[in-house]
Parts: sequence; C-alpha cells; structure tokens
Amino acid sequence: MKSYDVAIIGSGPGGYVAAIRCAQLGMKTAIIEKYSTLGGTCLNVGCIPSKALLDSSHHYEDAVKHFEDHGIEIPGEIKVNLEKMIGRKQAVVDQTTGGIDFLMTKNKIDVYHGVGAFKDATHITISGDSTEEIEAKYSIIATGSKPTTLPFATVDKERIITSTEALKLKEIPKHLIIIGGGVIGLELGQVYKRLGSDVTVIEYMDRIIPTMDGGLSKELNKVFRKQKFNINVSHKVTSVQRSGDEITVTAENKKGELVEFKGDYCLVSVGRSPYTAGLNAESAGVKLTDRGQVEVNGHLQTSASNIYAIGDVVKGAMLAHKAEEEGVFVAESIAGQKPHIDYNLIPGVVYTWPEVASVGKTEEQLKELGVAYKSGQFPMRALGRSRASMDLDGFVKILADETTDEVLGVHMIGARCADLIAEAVVAMEFRASAEDISRMSHAHPTFAEAIKEAALAATENRALHV
Ligand code: FAD
Ligand code: NAD
Repeated sequence: MKSYDVAIIGSGPGGYVAAIRCAQLGMKTAIIEKYSTLGGTCLNVGCIPSKALLDSSHHYEDAVKHFEDHGIEIPGEIKVNLEKMIGRKQAVVDQTTGGIDFLMTKNKIDVYHGVGAFKDATHITISGDSTEEIEAKYSIIATGSKPTTLPFATVDKERIITSTEALKLKEIPKHLIIIGGGVIGLELGQVYKRLGSDVTVIEYMDRIIPTMDGGLSKELNKVFRKQKFNINVSHKVTSVQRSGDEITVTAENKKGELVEFKGDYCLVSVGRSPYTAGLNAESAGVKLTDRGQVEVNGHLQTSASNIYAIGDVVKGAMLAHKAEEEGVFVAESIAGQKPHIDYNLIPGVVYTWPEVASVGKTEEQLKELGVAYKSGQFPMRALGRSRASMDLDGFVKILADETTDEVLGVHMIGARCADLIAEAVVAMEFRASAEDISRMSHAHPTFAEAIKEAALAATENRALHV
C-alpha cells in the first residue's frame, strides 16, 4: 500500500491548489478525482466554460448590434454556429484541464482516478477501473458541490436543465425560463439572450443578485430590462411541468396569485449544495452539519483532527478563489505555518456585461451592524474611456468609515469591473482610507479612474468630473 503525507479528495480549484502547495512544502502528496479530467466544477462545468460562452456571445452581440456604430460594416447576415461555439468552449476546457495534469506531474503529485472513500481516518479506498487503498497521515476533503434541485422540478437534463447542460445545448432555446436570479441564472441567461432566446428570470427574493449591494441589483436590473430580459422578482416557483417540448413554470407572486410562464427550456439555478456522496465521511469520524456541509473549525479542521476540508463543501461563499485560498491555508497549516484568510476581502464577481463586482461590506450590512459610514459614487458614463468604448452603464461606489475614512466596502458595476475590483481588494487589504485611494494617480483614460473619483466623492464629496 502506498503511503502519503497528504491525500486530497477532489481536484477542483480547492483540491488541486492544495496539492500543489503541499508538494511545494515538501510533502508527499496524492490527489483523487472521480472524473477522468482534473479541475472540478470550475474548470469542467463552471467558471471556465461559462466565461468562454460569455465571451463568444459577447462577440456575436457586438457584431450584430454595435459594429455598425463603430463604422464596421459586415455584408450579409451574421449567424451563430452554436456547435462551433460550444466546440470552442470545450477546447478551452480541455486545454485548461490538461494544464492541471501538467502541474500535477511537474509537482510530482500522484493522481488517482476513482471515487475516494474513507475506510478510517488514515486510509482511503479508491474505486475506479480497479480498487486500491492508500494510507495518508493527513487528508483534505475538497469534494465541492452540485446543483441544488427543487423537489417539484425533475431535472431531465434535456429541457429542464442545470448549468451543466446549459453549457452544451444543441440548439438555442426559443424561450428560456430561468428559476433563480443569482449568478448562474444571470450569466447563462445573458449568453442565451445574446444568442437570440427570449429569457424570463423568476427570482424568489425582491431583487436579483440579492446577496450583493442593493445598488448593484438595481442598476443590473435596469440594464437587463433595457436588454429585454423579462425579470420577475418576489416570485416563488412552486411547480415545473413538461409536456412534450413545452415547459410550464408556475410561481406565486407577492399577492399570493399564481402566475404561469411557458417556454421550451427551463434552467434551474437556485444555488448549489455541498457534495459528500460516497465519501464515507463517518467512517473517519468526520461530522457533517445539518446543511450537509463538512463541519470545520477556524483552522478548517474537521471533527477528525488529521482531516481538513475546504471549498464548496464547507461553509462560506462558493467561489473558486475562496476554495484556492483555503487550499493554500490548509497546506501551510499542516506544514506548521500560521496562515490567515480574511473572508471579508474575498471579492465576488458576476461576469455579465456590464460586469458586477464587490468586496467588503454592503450598505445593507453596514446598516445592520450599526456602522456609521459615508458613501461616494461615480457614474461610468462620466469617464472618457467609457464614452470611447460606448460602455456607459454602471458606477463605482465606495463605502468608508464616517470617522476614520477607512474603506469598508467597494461595489461596482460596469465594463471590466471583474478586473477593477482587484484594486479595491489591495486597498482594503492594506486598510487604505478613501483619501489614500483618491490621492493615487490612475492612468487616463481608464475605467479605473472611476475608483479614484468615487474615493474623492467619499472623501469630501469632491469628485472632479461630475
Ligand atoms: P469543485 O470544483 O466542485 O471540485 C470538487 C471535485 O471533487 C470534483 O471534480 C468532483 O468530481 C470531485 N469529487 C467529489 N467527490 C469525490 C470523491 N468521493 N472522490 C473523488 N473525487 C470526488 N466561481 C468563481 O469563483 N468564479 C466563477 O466565474 C464561477 N463560475 C461558475 C459557473 C458555473 C456554471 C458554476 C456551476 C460554478 C461557478 N463558480 C464560479 C463556482 C466554482 O466552480 C466553485 O466555487 C469551485 O469549483 C469550488 O471548488 P472546489 O474545489 O471546492 O470544488
Ligand atoms: P445563487 O445563490 O447565486 O442564486 C440562486 C437564486 O435562486 C437566489 O437568488 C435565490 O433567491 C433563488 N431561488 C431559490 N429558490 C427559488 C425558487 N423556488 N423560486 C425562485 N427563485 C429561487 O446560486 P446559483 O446562481 O445557482 O449559483 C450557485 C453558486 O455558484 C453560487 O454560490 C455562486 O457563488 C457560484 N457561482 C459563482 C459565479 C461567479 O463567481 N461569477 C458564477 C456562477 C456560479
């Protein structure tokens, strides 16, 4: 039987990053993945393929709607070749997952393909083409998550689908009904809207992207309505029925009335649930919470002291970069170091266009915490850069402590905000004040100037260009 310092179950961004860091720190490391490709949800059916389709559909929309404004004329009809678009997405995925194989080899990490199940706290059985057992001093559970389903909606993977199927459809839906106005619903909804589908979003809460700052929800809602999305908030879906190719979704509105929506596809995107099936966690003394997550303490240690858990399978935001941070954290903890993660500074991004990005506290959270704060906001449309590219929607909002001026939250919506948010993370990591940001030179013309202007607005209400 092979023996390891660390065995990692699951090869998503949590697992494979933990494996690399363990190997860097000199530990003999194994990683176990039940699928034939490494990379987990993120690389195979999550972050990477969804961004590939967002990019392709964005190009198409630009060609159809915006090239003309730029003086670019394309003779003849511009058409979508969906098969080719999905094929390009798959090529990007294959290249990216292949990159993880390379990294495992480079770092001398042993890769096992098969379902990993604990026999006890130091032994794992791997069931793949054959069954083998390994011994590990420490283990890291990084088994991720799977789409949450609704008891009354049978996902048939043909017309009633999850994000996994939405990334490989064979035709463009005529009318896509999306249950859940969260990140997946809006990103994939925008892909198909751009490609020509009618898109109806049904959201239970009173706003889309309900966990982000309210100002962002409002602005994104405005832009999506301009893009002719049919958005229905405060609607609780109660039934999903399929009859042939027709899907009927029934939802209860605020007044308690039942409203019917009819379409040819229905995407169920109501969140994701931790995945521990087949892990046999209890044999190792690993406890689960009543929400099905692996229970961990502040060191990400489970109820079995030599077993850790990270990523989507534990509490916290279900984000690839959060899983990665936790992977590094656990590897360094096992090596005897004292790492730290500031969960308040894990940014959240929605890759629609305009992009939406956030870090730190929202206005709603600050109010609930009773923190006295001031707010500075700057509209994207006031930037020269925005006018040059005709990306006028959105704003940057900076929330700073009323007394100390320390930045407490940054919320932005607009072109390239997914990348711009990194400046806010750096600033907050170094506990910058709004004035600190306002006194730093930002290249002109850039979208980043909106951050400086919002900081000026927060400091003394003295933005320069409004
Ligand atoms: P996962 O990536 O889920 O990996 C877990 C792995 O463990 C899987 O490969 C699974 O097969 C394997 N596994 C499970 N059980 C076993 C077992 N018993 N034995 C062996 N292997 C096992 N996040 C972002 O930050 N940015 C984005 O843009 C983004 N876009 C997304 C788009 C979509 C459509 C979806 C669905 C998700 C997206 N996410 C995004 C979320 C992101 O994918 C997850 O937060 C991230 O993948 C979690 O990483 P993880 O390592 O915890 O688990
Ligand atoms: P989500 O939690 O973002 O959104 C789900 C939405 O569905 C919520 O707004 C919820 O109120 C709504 N909902 C739940 N039950 C409902 C019902 N019966 N009727 C109507 N609405 C209902 O979840 P998601 O969009 O499925 O994404 C899952 C996870 O994947 C998220 O945690 C997210 O962090 C991650 N993800 C991240 C990215 C990114 O970082 N860009 C992209 C995709 C997914």
